[in-house]
Amino acid sequence: MNAKNVVESLKKRFPNEPEYLQAVQEVLESIEDVYNQHPEFEKANLIERLCIPDRIFTFRVSWVDDKGNVQTNMAYRVQHNMAIGPYKGGIRFHSSVNPSILKFLAFEQTFKNALTTLPMGGAKGGSDFSPRGKSSNEVMRFCQAYMLELWKHIGPDTDVPAGDIGVGAREVGYMFGMYRKLSGEFTGTFTGKGLEFGGSLIRPEATGYGNVYFLCSMLKTRNIDIKGKKVLISGSGNVATYTCQKLIQLGAIPMTLSDSNGYIYDPDGITQEKLEYVKDLKQVQRGRIREYAEKYPTAIYHEGMRPWGEKADIVMPSATQNEINGEDAKKIVANGVIAVAEGANMPSTPEAIATFQKAKLLYSPGKASNAGGVATSGLEMSQNSERLSWSAEEVDSKLKGIMANIHENCVKYGTEPDGYINYVKGANIAGFMKVAKAMMAQGII
Ligand code: NDP
Repeated sequence: MNAKNVVESLKKRFPNEPEYLQAVQEVLESIEDVYNQHPEFEKANLIERLCIPDRIFTFRVSWVDDKGNVQTNMAYRVQHNMAIGPYKGGIRFHSSVNPSILKFLAFEQTFKNALTTLPMGGAKGGSDFSPRGKSSNEVMRFCQAYMLELWKHIGPDTDVPAGDIGVGAREVGYMFGMYRKLSGEFTGTFTGKGLEFGGSLIRPEATGYGNVYFLCSMLKTRNIDIKGKKVLISGSGNVATYTCQKLIQLGAIPMTLSDSNGYIYDPDGITQEKLEYVKDLKQVQRGRIREYAEKYPTAIYHEGMRPWGEKADIVMPSATQNEINGEDAKKIVANGVIAVAEGANMPSTPEAIATFQKAKLLYSPGKASNAGGVATSGLEMSQNSERLSWSAEEVDSKLKGIMANIHENCVKYGTEPDGYINYVKGANIAGFMKVAKAMMAQGII
């Protein structure tokens, strides 16, 4: 396999899908050598079957807004790969959603899920519907209309969706409710459910907590303590909030949070009390992060900017894809940052990744360091199958074990001759080998 040629041929077939091509290129370049040590992979043209999703559902969702107007959105579910378990991946509601973004996310999800060691295939879904500015009734009607089409294609042993950007506990609740009514069954078809109806303790916290656990493992390789370290976080949603919470618990100092309008910098650090205000602001009031600076006047709000120019020790992007570009990465390196741990999916552009790796920063790609979310979703599926609920301590301890295991795998497959751990390479090879072996064993299908 020649990674460049494969990407060129995919570019011709899918010319309008830059995010998908970006994700494929990153994986193929890092697995090329290992892949070519297995001539049987090439003979079975494994790479094409691994890059192209099993199927994509595309459909129209029509719903009625509060003024009685009929609205129409586009919606999708990308079922990428089922070789190691039922399709599994979140649903994103955001105005930017399109097939390229969902294909990149489903592709990444396939390797991430393999890395968790749990039996889950890869998928992703979503719609260009934006919950922002909509009433709860409008969100409910949209979720129900989305399910009216999708419910036929999902199930506890076929495809298990969850949340992502714009889809939190409220949206999962509405979708699960409609799914349950249409299917006439109470099953563990969604994860991220409310605790009263099959949700797992620690699932809301899992992505952020897992990312901090992974960061601690990275820091340990250089004998660095997280205590007292200043951290830049982007986003103020699920991942950002619980990243912030675990950092505070461990004695680190979160300095920033953001949303799509701008970021706040708090020179005094974000405390648990301030974080509780943010949770209420974002989850209950559905407000904007600029309001933080009104509530805590020593904080500064920067409209239309991202936090990467601020001085800190650690960077944890937790908002969206391609939010750190090459220029941002240069600033991050120049400011003496020691580690970048990705909470979001593909938040760094290829230029940014190259800059981090050239400077020998501790740098982990989202598919390794944010895998705690889907791993805990896997634990929610196990609890639903058992019809039992595990304690928070039990789930958290399993999450810690899974993150430590992913870190070990990255070290195993990603350590370079000079001792530098290339976490991108490590994560991609470890995830790829598991899926590849399963696909080979199951024949050409
Ligand atoms: P949320 O919707 O809870 O929060 C997203 C946050 O990012 C919001 O603050 C939002 O701001 C901001 N944001 C969204 N789009 C943009 C944009 N284009 N530019 C700037 N800011 C933006 O989502 P999550 O926290 O769940 O997801 C965040 C990231 O983490 C995503 O990349 C997701 O794929 C990834 N992830 C999530 C997992 C999970 O368990 N939830 C698991 C693994 C990865 P605003 O309010 O203005 O929209």
